[in-house]
Amino acid sequence: MLEVRELEKSYGALRALKTLSLQVPKGSLFGLMGQNGAGKTTLLRTIAGVIRPEAGAITIDGVDALRAPMEARALVGYVPDYFGSYENLTVLEYMDFFAAAFGLSGRSRRVRCQELMWHVGLSQREDMLVDHLSRGMQQRISIARALIHNPEYLILDEPTSGLDPGTRVSVREMLCELCDSGKTILISSHVLSELSEICTDIAILDKGVVKVTGEVSGILKQIEHSNPLKITVLDGTRAAMAIFRKHPCVRSLTLSERTFSLEFEGSAEDEAALLQQLIDADIPVHGFMRDAGSLESFFLQMTEGRREQVIQSNVDESDL
Ligand code: ATP
Repeated sequence: MLEVRELEKSYGALRALKTLSLQVPKGSLFGLMGQNGAGKTTLLRTIAGVIRPEAGAITIDGVDALRAPMEARALVGYVPDYFGSYENLTVLEYMDFFAAAFGLSGRSRRVRCQELMWHVGLSQREDMLVDHLSRGMQQRISIARALIHNPEYLILDEPTSGLDPGTRVSVREMLCELCDSGKTILISSHVLSELSEICTDIAILDKGVVKVTGEVSGILKQIEHSNPLKITVLDGTRAAMAIFRKHPCVRSLTLSERTFSLEFEGSAEDEAALLQQLIDADIPVHGFMRDAGSLESFFLQMTEGRREQVIQSNVDESDL
């Protein structure tokens, strides 16, 4: 388990991480989501030991990463969101350089480099200059480099950004395979769909704070209840509006033609009671359903503070 507790990191007056706590279960493919500037890179760099927080604790498989940084680094492979420039270094020389930096030597160094180049599909390109590789291949070799010391945890910052769709899919497949082989993977993105399909767990970060975290399956259940309730009436819009406005579960409401869209914070029983109330008021209800929402809309709700909205209506009463 990788655990972050009450982490604080500031750049001057800007608090990039605000008493941030997070748990990454062992064996998970954990997606860290957040819009630009949410603090993802800062968090990942702190966990990887690239920058030091002002306060808090990071524990990786029981190792205190701030007190024993070398021990912690042996457990973590980090792929930053930039590749860097390696003039005149071939794929093989690049791998060999990093293998040497991790203390590998002789035959074990050669074998490890060959193994990893094969694993990421670059065996045929060992003599190619890394600066001449495509963005996708550079991402692959970065992953191979991060795996050189066979770490338990692989941390990747926006690994699919700037890749074409086909390469994105192959990088995602590689991450799933690595997770299946026992690695714990922590990956960031501001594109939710990148992560929602492959991750087992997610955390949504906003302005240095974790807004939501948990297993994707559990969060998807929450989403079902966060989607708008769509109610279509054939007549009686004004009477229906009066009922919705007084209802304690209705947070906001809009009307288009004869269909109301309600932000409704209530259980299935509350929904059934509302339907009954409309029927009892002789309102001809033609449609009553929850929108099939997405992780995307949930993410926007979480990061734009829409949950705190009080009842708002864009309904012009004179239209009724
Ligand atoms: P992005 O997706 O744009 O990379 P992010 O979620 O990774 O965003 P960070 O890069 O961690 O977010 O940035 C968090 C906040 O800290 C932002 O407001 C950013 O401008 C600021 N910040 C990051 N690095 C520095 C730095 N070295 N000096 C000053 N401010 C910084």
